[in-house]
Amino acid sequence: MLDVKVNLYNTLGKRVEEFKPNEEGKVGMYTCGPTVYHFAHIGNLRTYIMEDVLEKTLRFIGYDVKRVMNITDVGHLSSDGDTGEDKMLAGAKREHKSVMDIAKFYTDAFKTDALKLNIRWPDVVDPATNCIDEFIEMIEVLLDKGYAYVAGENVYFDTSKLKDYYCLSAQNEDELVIGARDDVDEDTNKRNKADFVLWFTKSKFENQELKWESPWGLGYPGWHIECSCISKKHLGEYLDIHCGGVDNIFPHHTNEIAQSESYFGHKWCNYWFHVNHLNTSSGKMAKSAGGFLTVSSLEEKGYDPMVYRFFCLQSHYRKPLEFSYDALDNVSAAYDKLIARLKRLDVSEDKKDELKKSFKIDSSDDMENSGRHMSEAGKVPAGADSSVYLDYEKRFAEALAGDVNTSSAITVLYDVLKADTDDVTKAALVLRFDEVLSIDLKRAILAVEDESDEGESVDSELAEYVEGKIAERAAAKRNKDFATADAIRDELAEKGIVIKDTREGTTWEKA
Ligand code: AMP
Ligand code: ZN
Repeated sequence: MLDVKVNLYNTLGKRVEEFKPNEEGKVGMYTCGPTVYHFAHIGNLRTYIMEDVLEKTLRFIGYDVKRVMNITDVGHLSSDGDTGEDKMLAGAKREHKSVMDIAKFYTDAFKTDALKLNIRWPDVVDPATNCIDEFIEMIEVLLDKGYAYVAGENVYFDTSKLKDYYCLSAQNEDELVIGARDDVDEDTNKRNKADFVLWFTKSKFENQELKWESPWGLGYPGWHIECSCISKKHLGEYLDIHCGGVDNIFPHHTNEIAQSESYFGHKWCNYWFHVNHLNTSSGKMAKSAGGFLTVSSLEEKGYDPMVYRFFCLQSHYRKPLEFSYDALDNVSAAYDKLIARLKRLDVSEDKKDELKKSFKIDSSDDMENSGRHMSEAGKVPAGADSSVYLDYEKRFAEALAGDVNTSSAITVLYDVLKADTDDVTKAALVLRFDEVLSIDLKRAILAVEDESDEGESVDSELAEYVEGKIAERAAAKRNKDFATADAIRDELAEKGIVIKDTREGTTWEKA
């Protein structure tokens, strides 16, 4: 374990606090998963990327993390309150499929996107429809304890029973009245405006496909109960960190706290980690707004998913992030430059093999394991200068431990490349940092270079020039400016440089 204190902004205390887990060295972490009625957009994925960085930061330092995520496949209505259409039903209707087919299809799609972005698939991923018995049990206890009531055949949580219902959200009753946005049909069963549904019966959505027997009649759960129960099922009654996007703070996470703490009779989760939104120039990226971007749409435009991840890492998770293609192009050029710089590290084939072993990098580059391996903290890989390695490993950890400051961590990466040490130590540090950054830097470091076969050492000024041109050409191609792209190719050819487009990117050689 590295001797590094982790400080996190805690939405509960509304300030940066030192992180102390319930059990020394161990972290229980819960993440609100996707509602699987559509593809995840790159805004949703910003949240999952930054949560992944938090998880990996803790692992990097040496914590033993257990991460749990739900999959919402029932009960999430189009308003996060209890109004509007059921999102899953709307998805099924849109595609003329059953709810379960929709859920399966979009859960798989989410996993594919997450893996493309090198997001480590959580240790436990549990769909809501798999946990109905747990929901019923928790609701029964809440009724027994007087925190819930039955009205109009639904079960509601009675928020007036709590002294501090708004502890997380800093909302108040007045704001809630103003905030009652798209409430088309105000629910007259509710005793208090903020009350929310724990269990719906047939009184809502006659066409609801998925229904279960319950003590209150045939029905289905509300959205909020699933996270309280799935967290309890896999992480017990004391949770260290709960994550989500800022839009989850109210009502979803506020309601989770209400349910869990009323059920357990004590404080439940100590740290609340919320990622701010990805916006477009016209506002928050949202599925309901239509025209949202996915990983596939970026790929179709020629962007490597790693460039999107790198884009997210450049800014702090608590700030809103504005997406634009110009900004993404800048990051793409920086990424290409970084990869080119890493390719120039002078690491012999033998040393590469040693590094592969130290970092458990499999040549098959198995997608499922992408971003899964984490080295032991403080263990120096074979061939690296130990004092330099340990110094930078700690600096990198400290940058991230300062409320997940990813852009500072990236600065440490560039500092390593400028440092006065040998290339094997640099390569080892980059591989170690990439266990958290997860932007496929290993591809650049461990690739077998054609040039090395001939033992030819490439003049680094020339390499920088050519790689700059290749990045310019890639940007031109993305802008569909093929004339400029071709002109760059010709310009290089005149100088005796032949470029080739491959799956791994553009390579070049002297003719
Ligand atoms: P959903 O699938 O709608 O339940 O959302 C999945 C996750 O994405 C939740 O944690 C949301 O808070 C988060 N989220 C939704 N919209 C955005 C956005 N524009 N930027 C970042 N995160 C978002
Ligand atoms: Zn949740």
